[in-house]
Amino acid sequence: MNKFEQLGLSESLLKAIIDLGFENPSEVQEKAIPLLLEKDTDLVALAQTGTGKTAAFGFPVIQKIDADNRNTQALILSPTRELCLQITNELKNYSKYEKGINVVAVYGGASITEQARDIKRGAQIIVATPGRMQDMINRGLVNITQINYCILDEADEMLNMGFYDDIVNILSTTPDEKNTWLFSATMPAEVARIGKQFMSNPEEITVGTKNSGSATVSHEFYLVNARDRYEALKRLADANPDIFSVVFCRTKRDTQAIAEKLIEDGYSAAALHGDLSQAQRDGVMKSFRGRQIQMLVATDVAARGIDVDNVTHVVNYQLPDEIETYNHRSGRTGRAGKLGTSIVIVTKSELRKISSIERIIKQKFEEKTIPSGIEICEIQLLHLANKIKDTEVDHEIDNYLPAINDVLEGLSKEELIKKMVSVEFNRFINYYKKTRDISASGSERRDRGGDDRAPRENNNGGATRYFVNIGSRDNFDWMSLKDYLKETLDLGRDDVFKVDVKEGFSFFNTDPEHTDKVMDILNNVQLEGRRINVEISKNDGGGRRDHNGRNSGGRREGGRREGNFAPRREGGFRSDRNAAPREGGFRGERSSSRREGSSERAPRRSESFGDSSRPRRPRRD
Ligand code: ADP
Ligand code: MG
Repeated sequence: MNKFEQLGLSESLLKAIIDLGFENPSEVQEKAIPLLLEKDTDLVALAQTGTGKTAAFGFPVIQKIDADNRNTQALILSPTRELCLQITNELKNYSKYEKGINVVAVYGGASITEQARDIKRGAQIIVATPGRMQDMINRGLVNITQINYCILDEADEMLNMGFYDDIVNILSTTPDEKNTWLFSATMPAEVARIGKQFMSNPEEITVGTKNSGSATVSHEFYLVNARDRYEALKRLADANPDIFSVVFCRTKRDTQAIAEKLIEDGYSAAALHGDLSQAQRDGVMKSFRGRQIQMLVATDVAARGIDVDNVTHVVNYQLPDEIETYNHRSGRTGRAGKLGTSIVIVTKSELRKISSIERIIKQKFEEKTIPSGIEICEIQLLHLANKIKDTEVDHEIDNYLPAINDVLEGLSKEELIKKMVSVEFNRFINYYKKTRDISASGSERRDRGGDDRAPRENNNGGATRYFVNIGSRDNFDWMSLKDYLKETLDLGRDDVFKVDVKEGFSFFNTDPEHTDKVMDILNNVQLEGRRINVEISKNDGGGRRDHNGRNSGGRREGGRREGNFAPRREGGFRSDRNAAPREGGFRGERSSSRREGSSERAPRRSESFGDSSRPRRPRRD
């Protein structure tokens, strides 16, 4: 018997749960479901985003309503159209083996008459945004005077968005005897006020600590000069080739501008903000869900509804005005038990805010340095090699092989590999050769948190940086890899530092005195039957700085050029992940016509916005 069966759920729901693939209830589900099924009670449930609140109220509400009665029996209020549609969709999935249950979504930006018609056909459950609901009540298009259940989902978000009056008005037209279930990630005063006003003796459930961040999200900040913000963003994207992220800006204008720049520079990015039409926003979200967009640049308001699993990074391009908002932003990643990273790009004057956020989320930030050009090149190069290795061959290609073999005849395997990699890589390395180090110095926090607890002298002394062909794919994170290395190499507590784990490979530092030992031992070790390969990286991983706080590593390779902070990407390298037909990015026509040479050969993306018929990037779970 699985744990869902112990909660008192009906057969039809249990069947649907199997289809959903849920194996065990989440904590909020385990607490809320039996309570709501057994009792007619009001409820206040506090739980972070991504903890499974929809099912926590969705299963009980479906089980409790009377499917034979066509009256509206439950009203679910949620902050955005996106969420409304998601909840509706989920409820339909939950109730698929339950005959006669109708769930109707009611939200702005779509035909009100059509929604009214759907309701008239008999909707036992209405999922609505407060604004549109109020509108429908005013026009007499809906009757909620008989409801038994009212659910306020993401109550804090709704109040944040200024729906207080609407909510009060809506609740006033519902019967006093109904039960109200309030779900929220945080408990600000306004939410408490609604609770007091409209609930009697509510049961309370708290999952995790109030207001605290999710345990599956780690928090990092990167200190830069204000003029380098955008360059930093690009480097972070380049250092994470599989990034699937939401990038937050403060204003609509910045959101639009940054997205445009990214597109121009060859990234698969798109903007999401309130100045877009509903159809445009839908298109963007569809493409994001389909992973045709890797970087969704969004305002806080527009991103509220986003519930996309497997987001790898949330990037705070600018910190929010209200630091409480940080929690909502970072909750877009680390969902459903997956790990996620929330990154903040800060300038020195904003460092204070990092400490304030730490107090709110009750978690520490790890201070990291923006990867240097060389480190990024290495990451991309290994990523490319891994990708070549993992690529499945489409045998359509067989027809062309004789001709291709003719052309390449006489090249040895080694030469061929070098040339193949160079095709993609040369232009990329040329770009990064010219760039300078952009990590700002001067944080007093360098020795705090995460793996930056490196011995101080290494920041000046010069450490050896290695890369090694094991990574998160081998189930390492930076802590476990550090432990593994220390143990394998028989090194002391702080001898291995700046461990940076990527998917198929990782970087780490040691003092130069250990270099021989590392190379000797590690190159002769096997991990689950696979030979470990370690090499000395050209990059020193921020371990060495000159007086300007610049990474001397950047200068070794060709001179740096001032005044060239955000040169356009030359596109070539990026084609390894962005070239259609696999994927339709949102790259502007201009940037794609700029792309040249071999990466031009393949037919490219269709021009339409968010066409999901295009093949997609493989999902990485
Ligand atoms: P919240 O409303 O708390 O932000 P959601 O209800 O949107 O969270 O759930 C987040 C994700 O977790 C969704 O993709 C959902 O399908 C998934 N999920 C919910 N409950 C479970 C469960 N018991 N087991 C596995 N996945 C779940
Ligand atoms: Mg939710």
